[in-house]
Amino acid sequence: MTDRDKILLTPGPLTTTLRTKLAMLRDWGSWDSDFNAVTARVRQSLLRVIHGQDTHVVVPLQGSGTFSVEAAVATVVPRDGHVLVLDNGAYCKRAARLTSLMGRRCTVMDFDEAQPVSPAALAARLKADPSITHVVLIHCETGAGVRNPLEAVADVCQAAGRGLIVDAMSSFAALPIDARRTRFDALIAASGKCLEGVPGMGFVFLRRAILDGCAGNSQSLAMDLHDQYVYMEKTTQWRFTPPTHVVVALAEAIAQFEEEGGQGARLARYTRNYETLVQGMARLGFKPFLAPDVQAPIIVTFHAPADPRYDFKAFYAAARARGFILYPGKLTTVETFRVGCIGAIGPNEMEQAVHAVALTLQDMGIGSAAPAPGV
Ligand SMILES: *Cc1c(COP(=O)(O)O)cnc(C)c1O
Repeated sequence: MTDRDKILLTPGPLTTTLRTKLAMLRDWGSWDSDFNAVTARVRQSLLRVIHGQDTHVVVPLQGSGTFSVEAAVATVVPRDGHVLVLDNGAYCKRAARLTSLMGRRCTVMDFDEAQPVSPAALAARLKADPSITHVVLIHCETGAGVRNPLEAVADVCQAAGRGLIVDAMSSFAALPIDARRTRFDALIAASGKCLEGVPGMGFVFLRRAILDGCAGNSQSLAMDLHDQYVYMEKTTQWRFTPPTHVVVALAEAIAQFEEEGGQGARLARYTRNYETLVQGMARLGFKPFLAPDVQAPIIVTFHAPADPRYDFKAFYAAARARGFILYPGKLTTVETFRVGCIGAIGPNEMEQAVHAVALTLQDMGIGSAAPAPGV
């Protein structure tokens, strides 16, 4: 356990392969044609993942995933636009906050954090309020782990003639997304999630039909995706210093993604991880927070054990000492913790994680991890 990195059971950064890590052991010039060819290859591969070659362009951006969400809102929504955020969790609240900070009018539509958002309720809301120009949807709400109905929400937005911005950060490359059938103006993801690259860059798919209209929307220089796009098309280069090592690691991660069999194969592996985890944890008494039919196989929220000896900090430290990094819960009302199913890991690692949790419970003197009755 001590001579290998700890397994990250978190929603990013994730455990990456040695091959991906080794790709970072070189220096690249940002003006150099070799590096710019890598950027071009990465962009083409990203478009193929969502079958977006004919309908969308993809614009990479330096920074963590949130930088790209903020850039997408500022680039796509005109300054007098009105954004409706469908809110069933922490990442939705973050999207609403950055929308307001960007100076866009923002309305939040609340949903239960244990349930997907409702396309029917959205349709009624859009009908009632013609001032709403754009809708923001989080595809997989990483807060609780809910899978939201992207296709149905996109259909509602298209029928109502409104724009749609999708934060697909924790779903892209794992859950199916097909730009030929599902219409969105912008869709955002990042290097360090289900593509299993390292963190440091996001990327935004922009619908070609709205591209020209985005010029001048952004009040930020560094975060203007339209400007980044125009410059990159003209010069093949990034506008400002690119995260070179992150880009070459992503290229290597994408090569492995394609060798594995693409999105379908990745979803199948994550689903096996998820099933191994939930079955193993159930043997110890743990109960997931979500019903299985609304759960994405990306990250699982578990109820904290009712046993008074349970304490997340001690639990985390003991699991960490055995080589596994867990993730705190992000729910407001109930005590939980989260376990990610994504990254360069398989069912073996999930079995080992469950075993580490079992030993951790023993250490803490907890006989059963069952939650309080009634939850
Ligand atoms: C990871 C994630 C983000 C981005 O978070 P960063 O910490 O900025 O990388 C945004 N939205 C969702 C749904 C995510 O899972």
